[in-house]
Amino acid sequence: MLDFSSLLLAAALSGTCLSITMLAIWFTAPRARFVLTVACGILVLVAHVVAFWRYTKDPDPWLCQAVLALLTLGFLVICLSAMQYLGFSDYRRAVVPTLAAMAACAIVTYLGFDGIGFQITYASVTVLLAAIGTMFWTKGDHDRRILLVVSFLSGACGASFALCCVVLVAKGQWVLGGAPDNWAERLNSVVAVACMTGLGALTLSLHHLQAQIELKAETMTDPLTGLMNRRALSELYGDRSFGPFMAIAMFDLDHFKMTNDVFGHPAGDQVLCRFAAVIKKYGKTGVDAFRLGGEEFALVMTRITPEKAHDLASRLGVAFGTEVVPTPRGPLRSSVSGGMGFGSATGRPLDEVLAQADAALYAAKRAGRNRVIAEVSADQPDAGPALKTA
Ligand code: GH3
Ligand code: MG
Ligand code: MG
Repeated sequence: MLDFSSLLLAAALSGTCLSITMLAIWFTAPRARFVLTVACGILVLVAHVVAFWRYTKDPDPWLCQAVLALLTLGFLVICLSAMQYLGFSDYRRAVVPTLAAMAACAIVTYLGFDGIGFQITYASVTVLLAAIGTMFWTKGDHDRRILLVVSFLSGACGASFALCCVVLVAKGQWVLGGAPDNWAERLNSVVAVACMTGLGALTLSLHHLQAQIELKAETMTDPLTGLMNRRALSELYGDRSFGPFMAIAMFDLDHFKMTNDVFGHPAGDQVLCRFAAVIKKYGKTGVDAFRLGGEEFALVMTRITPEKAHDLASRLGVAFGTEVVPTPRGPLRSSVSGGMGFGSATGRPLDEVLAQADAALYAAKRAGRNRVIAEVSADQPDAGPALKTA
């Protein structure tokens, strides 16, 4: 038979070490606030374990209140850290019902029904752990293997608390007068230590994964406009075959060098941001916008006919023409030229569609700028002659 006291102290020790490791990691990466939250949650659970250990020796009613409150509070904080990590901002959905359960538990325990207090607490913890498992399972969009393990560990830990609750209910133990001690409690102390240690270690993996994702997003984003950059275009569409309902519009601001020369570089930057804002406004589902570099942009459109793609690009150009950037030298209006490239029934690689769009853009510049030209490829018969003009 395992020594219950040793199990509890081992749990407290492993939890403390885990919290210290997490706090150290949070110090080096303060942006990962969920790591700090997990560390705090585990510290509260360590406090619970120590209090519970004391309670097994000295069953004081107030200590019982502390034991129960600390257990629920610890898992509530862990649940909040999961929400923080996954981007759920409505913390009240977890906090309000948990605090209500804690209040109910405190009242029945105060009235002498400490067995019911334990049952409410175990049930609350089960629900919190089930919520953590479900959130990771349904919302997580990272590495599925890590999420599966997080869900499994939360589920196993939750099940062991549920067993503790079921055993107390089955035995009709509404009044205990001391710490519950049965096979489910012993099993729970082993399962909880194993699962919480595993979850702690996975928190570090999740932190690592999040840092990687943030770094990747940074390398794919243009810092001035917030649009995706050329690297992102290759990453997203480099291996794609452009079918008949895919198109690319390439844009190049007109006389932008002169804009910079006359109005200054900061005003030029503002114009670039204005154009990006117009693109974002017109971009809808199925439209991805990129700043290719300098004053060149691209719009990749999917699930759209060539006519509609050309129409969207033309409307975007017209909308940009109405934008006015106030500068110390007076209001600044700019225009943009665009060229279209289309996919085909047999499929075309990105480079080919870009080259077609680039050629059309060049034609738009030669034709006097401030227009979007669509030069339809030979195997694009459905596009219609209207597309050949701006
Ligand atoms: P065209 O109508 O033929 O396209 O003429 P243009 O003057 O727009 O073409 P050109 O390629 O000669 O000029 C592009 C200018 O864009 C030159 C460069 O200084 C400016 N540029 C590139 N990147 C930035 C940027 O991030 N901010 C600002 N303000 N200007 C930039
Ligand atoms: Mg250019
Ligand atoms: Mg230009």
